[in-house]
Amino acid sequence: MDAINSAISFIKEQYKTNEFIPLHIPHFGGNEKKYLIETIDSTFVSSVGAYVDQFELMMQTITETKKAVAVVNGTAGIQVALRLIGVKAGDEVLTQALTFVATANAIAYQNATPIFLDVDLDTMGLSPKAVAVFLEEFGDLREDGCYNKKTGKRIGACLPMHTFGFPVHLEELIKVCDAWKIPLLEDAAESLGSEYRGRPTGSFGKLAAFSFNGNKIVTCGGGGAIVTNDLKLGEKGKYLTTTAKIPHQYEYVHDEMGYNFRMPNLNAALACAQLEQLNKFLDNKRELAQDYKVFFETNGIKFRTETPGTKANYWLMCVELENKGERDLFLKTTNSNAVMTRPIWQLMYRLPMYENCQKDKQINAEFLEERIVNIPSSVR
Ligand SMILES: *Cc1c(COP(=O)(O)O)cnc(C)c1O
Repeated sequence: MDAINSAISFIKEQYKTNEFIPLHIPHFGGNEKKYLIETIDSTFVSSVGAYVDQFELMMQTITETKKAVAVVNGTAGIQVALRLIGVKAGDEVLTQALTFVATANAIAYQNATPIFLDVDLDTMGLSPKAVAVFLEEFGDLREDGCYNKKTGKRIGACLPMHTFGFPVHLEELIKVCDAWKIPLLEDAAESLGSEYRGRPTGSFGKLAAFSFNGNKIVTCGGGGAIVTNDLKLGEKGKYLTTTAKIPHQYEYVHDEMGYNFRMPNLNAALACAQLEQLNKFLDNKRELAQDYKVFFETNGIKFRTETPGTKANYWLMCVELENKGERDLFLKTTNSNAVMTRPIWQLMYRLPMYENCQKDKQINAEFLEERIVNIPSSVR
């Protein structure tokens, strides 16, 4: 209890306030207003405009990828990435149960079914070991890919998620996926700016999706991006997300069922102003994480830090309590004292629409589900 009360005081000191402290709020300290006004004055507020192009170029640079496609939100980005890699109705997709619901929803939108595999305790993301063990038991490698011996269905993709910006064990995961001919996509919605062995997350999968929702490290109100090193896939992604229209001087010709998943130029203007500050945000959050680490260590509470060989963006920071009882006490005390904290998500197979999905034992996911709590992580 003493430790929790000290934590409340410490967090209030960080944000120099006695008022309510939210989990994560946007920080608009750059060219946001300038770019927005410029966009309104130009009248190009909607789905084409210079900021959309600039945003895509900035995302290519930041993620060190060849092609970025601006989209309306991160969920749509994952959905289209799945389609681009060839996930079809009736396919299955390997992912983690410890994730935000959008990961599983995006799979379901593609009329595919998620298979929930366990996470690693250190990264809180999809475990290469769990994937390998699952495929040893159920994998059936054929000419056109990997099938599930239990259901007879094709496993169309593997979709790990970098929880709170902590990168998964990418190298090991890629190895397993390659061996079983399963394309890897990254749900990088939470990990803009995170690195794995010196390279940005999002640059490892065949495709990756980012989110710019209001609570993410960089926001444009709502928005997303698909990135890839495969130019052909990238161009197809742009085409599909802009109604699959064949260029023509005046005719409307669409040769596939596309989507209106465009990011409006107004949002892209905000995104550009925010991306200009990404490095500043990353440094600021890293310093806060360091201060949290020292504080929580001396108060006997485990603060989660990046794993060796990775750089986390420290988007949402978290502590790991001893057990569910301690967790509940921490949640109750902090939230009653104007410090917003939240438990990690309920595992996907607890939700009615995903309760019948195939899954493994989930030992680590259930351990973390009972113990992880997010704490205020906004830029100070
Ligand atoms: C935020 C988030 C998404 C979805 O992004 P939106 O832009 O809100 O659609 C997807 N996956 C994860 C893990 C997220 O945290």
